[in-house]
Amino acid sequence: METPGSQSSLHRANLERVVRAVRLAGSLTQAEIARTTGLSAATVSNIVRELREGGTVEVTPTSAGGRRARAVSLSGDAGIVIGVDFGHTHLRVAVGNLAHQVLAEESEPLDVDASAAQGFDRAEQLVNRLIEATGVDRAKIAGVGLGVPGPIDVESGTLGSTSILPGWSGTRPAEELRGRLGVPVHVDNDANLGALGELVWGSGRGVRDLAYIKVASGVGAGLVIDGRIYRGPGGTAGEIGHITLDESGPVCRCGNRGCLETFTAARYVLPLLTPSHGTDLTMEGVVRLGRNGDPGCRRVIADVGRHIGSGVANLCNLLNPSRVVLGGDLAEAGELVLGPIRESVGRYAIPSAARHLSVLPGALGGRAEVLGALALALSEMGDSTLLDGTSPAVTPAFT
Ligand SMILES: [Zn+2]
Repeated sequence: METPGSQSSLHRANLERVVRAVRLAGSLTQAEIARTTGLSAATVSNIVRELREGGTVEVTPTSAGGRRARAVSLSGDAGIVIGVDFGHTHLRVAVGNLAHQVLAEESEPLDVDASAAQGFDRAEQLVNRLIEATGVDRAKIAGVGLGVPGPIDVESGTLGSTSILPGWSGTRPAEELRGRLGVPVHVDNDANLGALGELVWGSGRGVRDLAYIKVASGVGAGLVIDGRIYRGPGGTAGEIGHITLDESGPVCRCGNRGCLETFTAARYVLPLLTPSHGTDLTMEGVVRLGRNGDPGCRRVIADVGRHIGSGVANLCNLLNPSRVVLGGDLAEAGELVLGPIRESVGRYAIPSAARHLSVLPGALGGRAEVLGALALALSEMGDSTLLDGTSPAVTPAFT
């Protein structure tokens, strides 16, 4: 047992800081590790050498800003993470390694009327199929990230009421899947996972403060503050869809009137086009027609963008994120929706909050949530198994 504050426990803490930084980012140069961890370049260099000799990390030549550098990532065969995403009409599973490489990914349609038990059975089967296909060692699974399209109670892990999967409310998704797979499972809602996915793999790379806005059957935001998802004590942070835009507007499913959602979600927006375009339009169809020049669809997309922009302006005044990433089907509309969002932000946000903001479409499309689930599994796994054998265990007093 070493004393907290002793040489060896400080060394172990430094090892953990470096491994954690690389685990979350996927790959970092030694200079980036020094910046992220606050350790000196010499300390980082020594630690990276030790971790490399122990087989925990791999170092490959790269270039940073035109200069030669060394990229450090966790060893690909050090462990496996799995992402599972239940969506509106699909189930998607990805298998990745600790070096942030996606080894396999597959999506299949999911009947929204299927029971939760059937859904979890299907997830278990798809996970097992991908593990077999990739030939990875089950014993190396460090954890599973699980995405569900509804609110999760942080304390109990219970899924709240969801308009997308009505039969699933009251279930405990992480517990269900843990029981089937026998490995740790961490659950979060789709907006938070979309935010994590874009942060680690997509349009949010390199920033520490980000809001991911997902417009689908509802409107939600995943908030990243200083590199971490902000959930709030009850897990409901990011309910941007219920910001009031018009006190005398349409009644929302939450019971209030004129919420942002009543101006942007499909069930409110599509009826605007029924008289001119018929009844079998989907949001995807509106976006496709808008891109092809249909004036009515373009108008509706622009109005939705304007309203989202009002919500984003409020968000900017409160949180001052450096990036807003738009996900969901609507992101496919590109500038048709992003332009009006930026215009509203320029009009309604205080200038100092909007000055450093960039509004971008998501880079991952429908993969954002499942990759976010991989990122969740990566962020929740500890470093103790990775570091076993490279240094004595940290004393309880230190942790
Ligand atoms: Zn509402």
